[in-house]
Amino acid sequence: MITRMSSLFLRTLREDPADAEVPSHKLLVRAGYVRRVAPGGYSWLPLGLRVLRKVERVVREEMDAMGAQEIQFPALLPREPYEATNRWTEYGPNLFRLKDRKGADYLLGPTHEELFALTVKGEYNSYKDYPVTLYQIQTKYRDEARPRAGILRGREFLMKDSYSFDLTDEGLSASYQAHRDTYIRIFDRLGLDYVIVAATSGAMGGSASEEFLAEAVTGEDTFVRSTGSDYAANVEAVVTPAPPARPLDGLPEARKHHTPDTPTIDSLVTLLNKLDLGREFTAADTLKNVLLKTRQPAAKEWELLAIGLPGDREVDLKRLEASLEPAEVAILEEADFAKNPFLVKGYIGPRALLDNGVRYLVDPRVVTGTSWVTGADERDHHVVDLVAGRDFTPDGTIEAAEVREGDPAPDGKGTLVAARGIEIGHIFQLGRKYADAFALDALGPDSKPIRITMGSYGVGVSRLVAVIAEQSHDELGLIWPRQVAPADVHVVIAGKEDTLRAAGEKLAEDLSAAGLDIILDDRTASPGVKFKDAELVGVPTIVVVGRGLANGVVEVKDRRTGEREEVKVDEVVEHLRALTS
Ligand code: ATP
Ligand code: MG
Repeated sequence: MITRMSSLFLRTLREDPADAEVPSHKLLVRAGYVRRVAPGGYSWLPLGLRVLRKVERVVREEMDAMGAQEIQFPALLPREPYEATNRWTEYGPNLFRLKDRKGADYLLGPTHEELFALTVKGEYNSYKDYPVTLYQIQTKYRDEARPRAGILRGREFLMKDSYSFDLTDEGLSASYQAHRDTYIRIFDRLGLDYVIVAATSGAMGGSASEEFLAEAVTGEDTFVRSTGSDYAANVEAVVTPAPPARPLDGLPEARKHHTPDTPTIDSLVTLLNKLDLGREFTAADTLKNVLLKTRQPAAKEWELLAIGLPGDREVDLKRLEASLEPAEVAILEEADFAKNPFLVKGYIGPRALLDNGVRYLVDPRVVTGTSWVTGADERDHHVVDLVAGRDFTPDGTIEAAEVREGDPAPDGKGTLVAARGIEIGHIFQLGRKYADAFALDALGPDSKPIRITMGSYGVGVSRLVAVIAEQSHDELGLIWPRQVAPADVHVVIAGKEDTLRAAGEKLAEDLSAAGLDIILDDRTASPGVKFKDAELVGVPTIVVVGRGLANGVVEVKDRRTGEREEVKVDEVVEHLRALTS
């Protein structure tokens, strides 16, 4: 096929769009692949749509190869199934809700667990029907708080979502593993640099879950990897290794000290070291109690929550939210302190929290037998040597403290270092949550019902276009991997002479006849403009039909390496066919 630039619906831009921060967004707009319609809403122009379709094809081929069957749901969905699983409420403001003319509630599907579970229930009833895996490649809607970076985080986007249905836990593990292998094949075919990290389960509830993160400095997800093993995890999923509990025998008594003007950890540590208590204190010896409030999805009332963590660590809000999900969490306001006078700001200790029934969760490092300096619930006073498991017993532990580079890796091998990535896929053992909600059973060989267990698996198809661009570009423009490039070869006619024009046309036709997709720059624009556009558009091979033609050669340029070679006109078709196959 030949696409002529003279008639292609394409206008490239010399300037970066004002709202673009990341390279993929700038370049996809400048190269005329996408155009913004609304925040998080983009249209695909011809070249963009081609890349999107190619990505989609890779995903579809691999899903089909693993034996998943494609179906398609509407995006416009009734409320009831989502009511049955409580997600109509739990999904919160991210869900696009709307009403039809009769006043009935609808939503635009953010993900489709409910519909798949109901559909399988509608069609299947015997154990002999299982296992089955279904998928769709479909537009999803999420009213993201921060639509960002063009198609990287849209409010309307294309997702491949699949769902496995199994009779047994072993079956679910096998389906999960099959998806994992398939995702590896998909992302390898797309030439991406990525890691697989242990993830939190998010709003869906369930157990095993991993995310595929494409490495990118502009990524929103921070993950950590170990220097001593191939351990990698989302920061939200890092499990703090707890030291062993220590014996309580012989530990010094807890003692209250007058510590005037020490509402901050730093001021406290400085003062402690002046008090001459027989040892040197650091912030890590203090137990800081952070007050928050949480609210369960359907509840009206907020509940107080205190988190005790070593004073040298901050609370990481994302980790905290992941630990508390689906409950909401908020910082305490002055009014909350006023309502609870036992909370002495700057001097809050475990005693007042526990005595007043405040839920008190601590960092996993706060194990039995550890001694702490902490608030004495009295202005200008702290307690020294308050021992966990002796002087106070928290309600449990919580992963809320920041993870730092240099922390020991949870697998005990090496330390953690940080990196950034973009989520491209998510695989997830849901278990029986949705099957329970809809009583999805199969009739077993003994005529007893067997509750089905599900997995759910997503790939961000439209996001992948941006992710590939993010990992593959230079200062001149996009550089597409062959598998997804909008064409195989970009032929530039570099001059106005009829002979050049005729030779360019003929070359394009010969290449097309040989099965290659060609973009032919047959415009009257100057060679300089055409070269710039060719670099920007990013087809992996650029052929220049120019001055060399007089000597029977054209120039073949590798967009990635910038290398150029002269190739004889009568050998160029064979040369390019070999290059692109
Ligand atoms: P994120 O943490 O980036 O919001 P998520 O955890 O909400 O992702 P899933 O619900 O697991 O994502 O969706 C499956 C896949 O869909 C993700 O791995 C991602 O590639 C893609 N995706 C999710 N949200 C968006 C979005 N707003 N725009 C484009 N792609 C998205
Ligand atoms: Mg999300």
